[in-house]
Amino acid sequence: MPTLFEKIAAREIPADIVYEDDLCLCFHDINPQAPIHLLIVPKKPIVRIAEAKPEDKETLGHLILTAQLIAKQEGFEQNGFRTVINNGQDGGEEVPHLHLHILAGRKMTWPPG
Ligand code: AMP
Repeated sequence: MPTLFEKIAAREIPADIVYEDDLCLCFHDINPQAPIHLLIVPKKPIVRIAEAKPEDKETLGHLILTAQLIAKQEGFEQNGFRTVINNGQDGGEEVPHLHLHILAGRKMTWPPG
């Protein structure tokens, strides 16, 4: 069964998509935790970091370089941003299709909650 994010990639569920290429897409999180909260999602439904395979290396690296590109495109490269990948129950993962959160537009706190 396709994941929620596969359905977004297939345009079966609407989302505010800001970027797409062969390997991934980027859209606004429906429940933003910062003034800017985007998700970068690989088109391949890798479940989570713990289940990624050596052959996913290019895709995983691509997510980070896409975060760099999105930061430039959306204009928050200079002020900075935070990237997060939640993994499993204690990591706060809700959607079992790996995704990189980008949070920006305010000063982040540390440690995270
Ligand atoms: P995680 O807790 O890391 O699995 O993150 C899942 C994220 O997906 C949460 O921040 C949700 O707000 C977000 N989300 C869930 N459904 C949608 C949707 N239909 N469109 C955009 N973001 C969503």
